[in-house]
Amino acid sequence: MAVGDCSRLIEKVVERIRGWGARKLSYAGRLVLINDVLTQLHSFWARIFIIPLTVIDKITSICRNYLWASSDKYGRVPAVAWDQVCLGKKYGGTVHCGQWIYLVAGGLVKVDWWPLIWNRLSLPKYAFIGWLMIQERLYTKDRMLRFGVISDGLCDICRTQMEDHQHLFYSCDFSTRCWTLLREWLGVPLPTNDVLHWCSMWRCRSLLKKQLVYAAVVALIYHIWMAQNVCREEHRVPIPRQIFNEIRRYIQNLYRSKEMMSRFSLVL
Ligand SMILES: [Zn+2]
Repeated sequence: MAVGDCSRLIEKVVERIRGWGARKLSYAGRLVLINDVLTQLHSFWARIFIIPLTVIDKITSICRNYLWASSDKYGRVPAVAWDQVCLGKKYGGTVHCGQWIYLVAGGLVKVDWWPLIWNRLSLPKYAFIGWLMIQERLYTKDRMLRFGVISDGLCDICRTQMEDHQHLFYSCDFSTRCWTLLREWLGVPLPTNDVLHWCSMWRCRSLLKKQLVYAAVVALIYHIWMAQNVCREEHRVPIPRQIFNEIRRYIQNLYRSKEMMSRFSLVL
């Protein structure tokens, strides 16, 4: 198949992405749609025609722009390199193994945090923010300062310390309080300053309990990230107890939906 013959294929991808662009989806929602396009490309088109590499590159760049900037045009520096996005979940990426990994070159190294992030009980929006957080790719204020985007690096939640990954997610009084409430309720050790280290050390025999604790940890990471957005945009500081109550309800609902109350000893 010649490059010129593929213009209809590229047009179709652009049309679909423009249609989605109007829907104002979250990163997680956009990722699901991209997964859909690339899976179709792989399972339908690529099995009928040999698609030229330049066309794959073009479609890849359209999907990359849509993920990070909600448009088919380049609009924002990607938080994570596309090769990493396209990796299988076990290898630190975001896609189910066997889907569109063929777009990626290079060796694969399994990461031990993938069950924490890509836990089947986690909401996609929690998982996506967790995936960025665990790689320290969220735009915390220290990074924004380095890029020259902002001039005030003070944490919007406590207004006493500079905001960086470590401060925002662990040592800010707000975050410490949230982690403490969650730890006391779950009755298991939780991360205190390094979620990667915690993930490699914490062991649990019950798969369901492990999945629920992982879901709670990733939910809290998401809520801490959203808390600084709320502070900056709505000029109010969320209350740790309210965030904790929301996560507790979420975990209780997950637990009930599993209808396995007698299978493990977590007191809910
Ligand atoms: Zn703070």
